[in-house]
Amino acid sequence: MVAVRALCDFAARTGDLDLRFTPSPSGSEGVAGHSEVTSRRGAGYQRELPLSVVWGGLRVQGRADGFDSVAKRLEEIKTHRGDPALIGANQRALHWAQARVYGHLLCEQLALDGVDLALIYFNIDTAHETPLVQRHSAPELRAFFEALCTRYAVWARAERAHRVARDAALRNLVFPFAAFRTGQRALAEAVYRTHSHGRVLMAQAPTGIGKTMATLFAALKAAPGNGKDLGTDKLFYLTAKTPGRQLALHALDKLTQADTPQAIPLRVLERVARDKACEHPDKACHGDSCPLAQGFYDRLPAARQAAAQGRWLSKTTLRQMAREHSVCPYYLGQEMLRWADVAVGDFNHYFDHGAAWHALTEANGWRVGLLVDEAHNLIERARLMHSATLAPAAFQALRQAAPAALKKPLDKLQRRWAALAKTQTQDLEVLPELPGEFITTLQQLCSDIGDHFAQHPQDALDGPLQRWWFDALHVLRVAEQFGEHSLCDLTRDGTGRVKHPALAIRNVVPGPLLAPRWAAAHSATLFSATLAPMDFVAHLLGLPPDTLRVDVPSPFAPAQLAVRVAPHISTRWSDRQASLTPMVELMAAQYAAEPGNYLAFFSSFDYLQQALDRLQHHHPALPVWAQARGMSEPERDAFVARFTEGGQGIGFAVLGGAFGEGIDLPGRRLIGAFIATLGLPQVNPVNEQMRARLQALFGRGYDYTYLYPGLHKVVQAAGRVIRTERDHGTVWLLDDRFARLEVQRLLPAWWHAPRMAQDPPGL
Ligand code: SF4
Repeated sequence: MVAVRALCDFAARTGDLDLRFTPSPSGSEGVAGHSEVTSRRGAGYQRELPLSVVWGGLRVQGRADGFDSVAKRLEEIKTHRGDPALIGANQRALHWAQARVYGHLLCEQLALDGVDLALIYFNIDTAHETPLVQRHSAPELRAFFEALCTRYAVWARAERAHRVARDAALRNLVFPFAAFRTGQRALAEAVYRTHSHGRVLMAQAPTGIGKTMATLFAALKAAPGNGKDLGTDKLFYLTAKTPGRQLALHALDKLTQADTPQAIPLRVLERVARDKACEHPDKACHGDSCPLAQGFYDRLPAARQAAAQGRWLSKTTLRQMAREHSVCPYYLGQEMLRWADVAVGDFNHYFDHGAAWHALTEANGWRVGLLVDEAHNLIERARLMHSATLAPAAFQALRQAAPAALKKPLDKLQRRWAALAKTQTQDLEVLPELPGEFITTLQQLCSDIGDHFAQHPQDALDGPLQRWWFDALHVLRVAEQFGEHSLCDLTRDGTGRVKHPALAIRNVVPGPLLAPRWAAAHSATLFSATLAPMDFVAHLLGLPPDTLRVDVPSPFAPAQLAVRVAPHISTRWSDRQASLTPMVELMAAQYAAEPGNYLAFFSSFDYLQQALDRLQHHHPALPVWAQARGMSEPERDAFVARFTEGGQGIGFAVLGGAFGEGIDLPGRRLIGAFIATLGLPQVNPVNEQMRARLQALFGRGYDYTYLYPGLHKVVQAAGRVIRTERDHGTVWLLDDRFARLEVQRLLPAWWHAPRMAQDPPGL
């Protein structure tokens, strides 16, 4: 079976890739536009007409937008902004291809000898229709349809054969090591059951048991399905950070034995951001600018064929293939998502607004399995995806430089903004609802800018107006989904230099926005070393009520890790100065008692710097190195490289930062950690508003805002110390609040109860 749209995307595109600016409507605007057009039609007009035909064993099906059975006219509706004459020739040809295929399906279904085809371009801003009508005979439409199908059928046959071979190999997939590690089998079994039965699983499992390998192995083994379960078409492995992606690729390489004659025929795709894949960062993505976009669709079939046969589509190999065929590697990768068995990418590929992986899953009806690595990070990442801020400074700068044609709508927004500012009584004012008039004026302004770009495409070339417009459209998209899961507030500029407040829509509970994403997947496993308490994570991520849960016991023995609390130290804001000397004395004493590599974590760069200065002042001979703000990848690598097997010293880092999770320092590379904070987010007006909302929604405002997120970071950081069953180490929890029961019950169950201690051992 193939959908009309997919058939045309595959076989009807030719010429340049052209992603020149087009002011396209949002998904919901498109749906509303279609309804508007069809509501204008009279009796005898059929909407969403289902059509299908079988050709050479291939079922082609879809829903035509509308058919006027009296006028015998089939309509294909496309919503747009600006002048329809500016819609690119390629895009228009694709629209006509879809209309013709529907035309053929209709002629077949109703035994017609011809039909009028109408492309209706509907301007969502002016509600104006531009119809383009062509008359086609049934034989013409058949010939066009068959030409597309002939091209597609060869590929479809090869794809079916690939799927059969893939599934057969996956049924016999063997674990690539002689034995499972302790706990690894339990995790793999839970994942296998979950993905075999189309469920969602939360799996908490300690660091060091090989979660990446266990989850990938089990989800792949379940992919062919059996009995009633149809299996999965694709597996999406989603990570928060680049190192997680590399670990997944490494595990996949091992599982598929990619370099051997017994290789599993699995297509693995690594997706990276466009700026990391682009070969011509100084150019724009259209044929007049970039040579790799020029004629892209003419060369794509050969590149796609080579990539499908090559199977291992990492950033490097894909780049090589793209070079050989003179196509853009980024857009070749985008195409290969359709044909990949496993795609490894970032959370935002599936969970962001309009995320491509989710949109394609819905559009193509793919059965997708999700593996969400370090899933505790998804809470904060999803909040960011579904939040937006409109800052006054950028707007004021824009007003000065904007084209004269936009002066009126810009001034109107300026007046609305000023009116909002007058209503503000506090520096941070939470609004009971979205400011309706302001949002409507913003919508109008965005629409006017869109029209302006349509008339003056050269103004849209990555200038400040375009950047502001993208930001404003993001605000509107976030506003469209506004509900009790989010807050809307006005914040005054602290300096008093900017008169207008910033308008922010802050997502607090991403769950309602993520729930449709879980529903669109066939199955999902969320895994992490820190998912406790699981109700907290399930509530905030909107997991289905029947989500399965597993907590894999640690393979490590309590004797491997000495956990000590320093009850004489307080890291509260007001106690910071007083904490410095006792803290550095304790660190130096621990180091003297057991020399080796340590990590010390602080709540901020400022606190880190103060502690570092104090330690260097009191103990100048003790080797130290420190994390800095905005470190580049090589700088981060150099920081980690200091932790050598026989090394000695203390690396200073910020809790929740680049070194708080995801780094692996087994054996003597790390023998201890000092954690000088509970990791609690700062108490400030914004967080207090979040606390109030979470209290109202779940009755656990403080825990959900402060305690649980803070302790996740602490446990992740402490998890750097014991990485294998042979490791031994010490974790110092430097704050009296670690002695509290409500805090201790959030620490890993396998730890010995922390010992209260003023001094390190041996002193
Ligand atoms: S190489 Fe860069 S500029 Fe060219 S099409 Fe690809 S992403 Fe766009």
